[in-house]
Amino acid sequence: MPIVSRKAALCLDILIVGGGVGGLAVAYMLSSAGHHVRVLEKRDYNVPCSGHRLTPNVSKILRQWVGEEELKKVSVRCPATRFNRLRTGENIGFLPWTPAVMAETGGELLMIHHDDLIRLLHKLATDAGATVDINAPVQSIHAGTSDSKPSITLLDGGELRADLLIGADGSNSIVRNVVLGEANRAKPGGLTVYSGIIDAEKMLSDPELRPLVLTDDWPIWTGPRRSCIGHPVRGDKREYAIGVYSWTDPDGQDGQENWEESVPTEEAVTEIDAPMLRRLLKLTPRLVRTKYMARDQDDWTWVDRTGRIVLLGDAAHPSYAGGMHTTGMAVEDAVVLGCLLSNLQSMDQLPTLMDAYQELRQRRCALVGLADLGNAQMMALPPGPEADARDEDMRRQRNEWDEGMLKAQFEEISGIFLYDAGDAAEEWWINWGRFHKNVHDEPSVVDVEVHCDRG
Ligand SMILES: Cc1cc2nc3c(=O)[nH]c(=O)nc-3n(C[C@H](O)[C@H](O)[C@H](O)COP(=O)(O)OP(=O)(O)OC[C@H]3O[C@@H](n4cnc5c(N)ncnc54)[C@H](O)[C@@H]3O)c2cc1C
Repeated sequence: MPIVSRKAALCLDILIVGGGVGGLAVAYMLSSAGHHVRVLEKRDYNVPCSGHRLTPNVSKILRQWVGEEELKKVSVRCPATRFNRLRTGENIGFLPWTPAVMAETGGELLMIHHDDLIRLLHKLATDAGATVDINAPVQSIHAGTSDSKPSITLLDGGELRADLLIGADGSNSIVRNVVLGEANRAKPGGLTVYSGIIDAEKMLSDPELRPLVLTDDWPIWTGPRRSCIGHPVRGDKREYAIGVYSWTDPDGQDGQENWEESVPTEEAVTEIDAPMLRRLLKLTPRLVRTKYMARDQDDWTWVDRTGRIVLLGDAAHPSYAGGMHTTGMAVEDAVVLGCLLSNLQSMDQLPTLMDAYQELRQRRCALVGLADLGNAQMMALPPGPEADARDEDMRRQRNEWDEGMLKAQFEEISGIFLYDAGDAAEEWWINWGRFHKNVHDEPSVVDVEVHCDRG
């Protein structure tokens, strides 16, 4: 179903802290719905990064936003995942993402450079009318009351006020501290992720590395306490994204929980014996190191007590860097929040819409996040019966994979892939939202464009 293009009857001034994937995606949705949106991003966009695997639940959203052709220009369709041993490079399994099965999900598995995704979302957001300020770090957040607006203070001392403030400031969010009313209680999670980009041209001259670029596969190398991934990015595949997932004792874990720390590649190459993989990693001199911090999120609220500050993306449901679904969950959050706020007719409706947003999103994000973390752990099991069972499973898939087995596997992941964020929000509105007692006008789904009065 197409994502709603309805304009809200009441338009808000909205500030978004953080111009990453989630912040830009929600800026696009809200600007399209007629709201006045300003994004504050602390860095500029020319910083080291790597690539994303976009599952069908998110690739179908992007296709609706930019069209098939635009998406093709900046991404690579993944035909299969190949499982290999980290120690030897030996292939142990193969999981095809066949076009027929992907078609059932309504999307594709795409691989995209972080820069390309940001550029695409930035253009969508600004074309829709959002203002994006870069190099604009937000220093502090001040909650308002249900009648007065929340505000922020910028590092340069400037103060800004808004009807609604969205914290899209990543895993180590400062907005979340205000929403939860307490500082971050996080502890090292034992996983450090190293991410980078390699010039694919350099791989083409190595006979063992060359097929990695040419096949478009997404290989995963599994090993004790470590795993690696790689895949081509950019529409013309001129670059190759890599990630090393390293499990260590949490007590001795180094690093920071952000994408700002660059370390020599040598640090990630230790314990990787496969010569081909060592050669691959050494093609990039430095990698971004990101530390996973674990948090108990069970009793979190995503909306502050005034209903005017709300969390989104990693700020709402922090996970580990480079997960398969992290980006998808942030984009889905943006779609749901944007769709709900396109129904806004009066300020007293806001708390209900914010509650609906949390209700629609929190459980899904928690379940998907757990599955994602479980997969990362499974790819790096220590030697033993569990690792043997995993390898046997992968081997069986390679040898016996047929349409029947693929269907069975598909059932397991269909809950993630088939989800339609726009549908979820529309369904809530039709079943519940439009009957909310504080909505002044006759309840109706407004499908025509309504001229916006500033609230
Ligand atoms: C520079 C960068 C590169 C990344 N590269 C990859 C990658 O290659 N592969 C991958 O899988 N994931 C990557 N990620 C993480 C991934 O984008 C997220 O996990 C996921 O998309 C959820 O997005 P998010 O917008 O919630 O969080 P994030 O992507 O972390 O975005 C949060 C944004 O908020 C900004 N911010 C934080 N605090 C403040 C503040 N006080 N004031 C203003 N702005 C603030 C940050 O600079 C950041 O741009 C990257 C993140 C960043 C920031």
